[in-house]
Amino acid sequence: MAKIKKKVKTIKIDADKCNGCRTCEVICAAYHSQPKYSSVNPAASRIRIITHRLDDIWLPVFAGEYSPSECMGRDKYIIDGKEYDECTFCRATCPSRDMFKDPNSGLPLKCDMCEGEEGPLCVEWCLNDVLIYEEREEEVEEEVEMEEMDAGLAALIDKHGFDKITTAFARMSQNK
Ligand code: SF4
Ligand code: SF4
Repeated sequence: MAKIKKKVKTIKIDADKCNGCRTCEVICAAYHSQPKYSSVNPAASRIRIITHRLDDIWLPVFAGEYSPSECMGRDKYIIDGKEYDECTFCRATCPSRDMFKDPNSGLPLKCDMCEGEEGPLCVEWCLNDVLIYEEREEEVEEEVEMEEMDAGLAALIDKHGFDKITTAFARMSQNK
């Protein structure tokens, strides 16, 4: 299988520096509102801060891939004596919980690194240097791109049903 070069973008999280100000949630939600910056609903943000205020714990979590699986094996974390619910730190959007779903449409949200901007806005707006943007190049199989497309399509079919999606595609191809 052919290999292609892919730019891998990461955001390193220095969690100890986070003070829970939630500026990252605000700028992400505003940037992704339609039209851009027309509203701010942190529930629509692709980064969320998991908190345990009494112990000053604030942990940024980015929205990852959609998963239809509703995992059978889940993780429980105990941090500084506080036990967190299963799924608390998971990045996936899945049918089990409302985290990382658009509050209006219910469609899964995924961090897109603010595509189209010079860099991720949450990184730029975090004044405590919690979020550190890094880039590197990796060789990957061409197929990986297809898997990403499949996941997006699966999410749409889950939400709207197979018939609606195929009808929409048929209509779009007629309009070409
Ligand atoms: S903007 Fe920075 S300090 Fe504020 S909540 Fe987000 S990651 Fe934490
Ligand atoms: S990189 Fe952009 S899309 Fe991703 S969480 Fe930060 S502001 Fe949101």
